[in-house]
Amino acid sequence: MKPTILSLLTIIFLALAVQAAAPIRVMLLDGESGGPYHKWQLVTPVLKKQLEETGLFQVEVVTAPPAKGDFSNFKPEFSKYQVIVMNYDAPDERWSAELKSSFEQYVKNGGGLVVVHAANNAFGKWKEFNEMIGIGGWRGRNEASGPLWFFKDGKLTSDNAPGNAGNHGARQPYQIMLHDTKHPVTKGLPKVWMHQGDELYTNLRGPGKNMNVLGTAFADPSNRGTNRDEPMLMTLSYGKGKIFHTAMGHDVMALSCVGAITMLQRGTEWAATGKVTQKVPANFPTANSVSYRTDYAAMDPNYKKGLNGLDR
Ligand code: ZN
Repeated sequence: MKPTILSLLTIIFLALAVQAAAPIRVMLLDGESGGPYHKWQLVTPVLKKQLEETGLFQVEVVTAPPAKGDFSNFKPEFSKYQVIVMNYDAPDERWSAELKSSFEQYVKNGGGLVVVHAANNAFGKWKEFNEMIGIGGWRGRNEASGPLWFFKDGKLTSDNAPGNAGNHGARQPYQIMLHDTKHPVTKGLPKVWMHQGDELYTNLRGPGKNMNVLGTAFADPSNRGTNRDEPMLMTLSYGKGKIFHTAMGHDVMALSCVGAITMLQRGTEWAATGKVTQKVPANFPTANSVSYRTDYAAMDPNYKKGLNGLDR
């Protein structure tokens, strides 16, 4: 049969439709944290569910060996994935130079990376990793790691004052202020919105190269804060790779915030593809009221409704 223009167009259309429907391949990396306060085993299924419920992602969990585990066979095929979502916080010595190099090549060649909360504690002295994440805390970071970064008078500002990196006050709800609502990740969002009970990371330090701070939160001195607008949502580039970094998300309760979920879903799509096709949910938080999902509570036995500002 002679192909008609119509049948050729049908074939092209079907090919495009198949391409459009192909899910984004995500590696969700976990396996270790800096202490018992970060329950990564509980957080991973929540992050996976949040990503998969968009219908955009196919998530594969890759669990690194524990602190005293055998890393000789841990050679993840990073390039199989369009984006790596990091729910992982290990010290510098945990990964071999070869493993670090393979991760660097992946991002340099255009692989996406999403850094969630304490993942910015990982690898305090790994230079290339710190360039990817821009800023981080704890694990030996100090003035040698780079300046403190914050927003002042509407501009990203740095301060070389000495001191250890990483701090936070008691958990409570806080406002996120967006400084860039033209970026695909934050487009269409309210300029100010309330994040529910979470740690507000302060005194983060690092090279801050190629870093665009999309949103900050004011660290109130009455809650051990710095009196500064601290970076909470960042995009960065490293080689051809795109990085989305959120300092929010201490635990399942913090990750139940509709704002935090939206940022994870949109940030992951952007880091993988450079675009965001998702709509802003109708129940997105407003400037003065939190908005959170209750369906994740069952995934965390320690989840206590009403604690830390959840219902305030
Ligand atoms: Zn935390």
